[in-house]
Amino acid sequence: MLELLTSTIRTVPDFPKPGIQFKDITPVLADARLLRFAVDELAREWKDKGITKVIGIESRGFILGAMLADELDAGFIPVRKQGKLPFTTIRETYDLEYGSDTIEMHIDAVGPKDRVLIHDDVIATGGTAAATHRLVEFAEGPLAGFSFLIELGFLNGRSKLPADARVHTLLNY
Ligand code: AMP
Repeated sequence: MLELLTSTIRTVPDFPKPGIQFKDITPVLADARLLRFAVDELAREWKDKGITKVIGIESRGFILGAMLADELDAGFIPVRKQGKLPFTTIRETYDLEYGSDTIEMHIDAVGPKDRVLIHDDVIATGGTAAATHRLVEFAEGPLAGFSFLIELGFLNGRSKLPADARVHTLLNY
């Protein structure tokens, strides 16, 4: 099943920019059996870890993140690009290859009584996940760890995450 999952993820060359090998998970989302398998495998790592909130990072992190939250009996928190969340937010800016990006989370989304799991579909350079972690720290939400469907290991994004953090990825490239 893991091999089927790997072969169903579509690599699209030069999207959205020349040189990027984009990992397209939509064929997995479209397949009921593979979608169930992916969520079950992601959730297995975090069952009985007392997770109270799963953070999904815009926008593909919303899909499996929300399913993961359901599976773990946790709440779901969206972290979004600047200007999308309606209530008071906290924000973090981080560097991209060219320029920078800003993400936001609602100020009351997580707190000291939570155990927070951060999810995205892909960890590439790790900048987005690291910035999300800084939001969680600012909100004083205790971190349980990070969950990714796909890790682009050659980019070493893990090195941007806290050294003692639990990081689970299903597929490594
Ligand atoms: P990062 O470089 O880890 O900050 O990744 C930035 C965002 O872009 C994350 O939400 C990733 O899911 C997404 N991303 C980066 N590289 C890829 C890729 N090759 N294929 C699919 N998504 C990607």
